[in-house]
Amino acid sequence: LEVAAPLWAGLVPVLRSVRLELSLANLEPLRIGIGERVRLGEAINLPVLKERVYYASDGVARVVPVIPGSSLKGVLRTATMTALTACGIEAHSGVKSDNCVVRLCDGVKLFEDLRKSMRADVVRAVVAGFCPACLLYGTPSVSSRLRVGEFVPEPSTVRLGVKTGVGIDRRSGASANVIYTVEYVEPGTVFSGVVTAVNTPNWLLALFARSLLLLDEGWLKIGGFKSRGMGLVSLLKDRGRLVVEGAVARDVPALEVLDGDVDRVEELPGCRTDEEGRLVCEGPGVYEALRRFAAAWDGFYCQRLPEVLERRREAARQVCRASVAGGEA
Ligand SMILES: [Zn+2]
Repeated sequence: LEVAAPLWAGLVPVLRSVRLELSLANLEPLRIGIGERVRLGEAINLPVLKERVYYASDGVARVVPVIPGSSLKGVLRTATMTALTACGIEAHSGVKSDNCVVRLCDGVKLFEDLRKSMRADVVRAVVAGFCPACLLYGTPSVSSRLRVGEFVPEPSTVRLGVKTGVGIDRRSGASANVIYTVEYVEPGTVFSGVVTAVNTPNWLLALFARSLLLLDEGWLKIGGFKSRGMGLVSLLKDRGRLVVEGAVARDVPALEVLDGDVDRVEELPGCRTDEEGRLVCEGPGVYEALRRFAAAWDGFYCQRLPEVLERRREAARQVCRASVAGGEA
């Protein structure tokens, strides 16, 4: 079986690794809850998620509100789907059976069976045909190539607020007597965290940058009570650090082609290459790089990708079918 199985489609060997340190602030109250605590005859409290965080800077552990990586990753996947749909590219949410393992290989079990018996290059050929959302954020049986860490606040910026309201008792229908309190993080709290990725071609980095800027531009929000004026966040444009290792140009700050069918060389004049051959962007250079990538997505990759991807998806389907036929023979 002759298949196009690009090495970057696998997670090993690592051809490129990316580390992005980010800071963001909430412009509106932010509420990432831990669910309702309801006791009969008592007030309903809706606290925010808090964790004990150790701060290496002063060696103190504090209980603070956090943004779990899973929350941020979920929002980013939604943003990515929005960006893909705008380019006419199929994308899956990853919820239940809405993923490429099911769509391309007719089911998780089949893909799992294939993976046990298939050569690594055949698996890569199938994964290369995944929609970019499944490729980046993962599916039930294929790992995410993006890891979003927990975002923790700068202690001096944290302020918590509480709103009190009167709700409707669903049992009696009476509108009085049910008092609830909603806790939230006051605007202006600064959260920092790290996003890492492996084997992301330039076009996938461009898509990620576009997704992150959709969040920054306010098209999407984080947490609960979004329709009630909560959850708007913004990147701190003068902060951050981006380090890319692998497929980095030697003489100028630029990323070389990783996916030969889609990528073009991406120049990032606001960044530099360090003595170890890594591309490093710092401070305002990070936001500048993100903007350049997002613009590359909107123009070049959004036009080029759909056709290549359609070919790869068809090839992936054929590989799955052929493997099924081979297994039955
Ligand atoms: Zn998919």
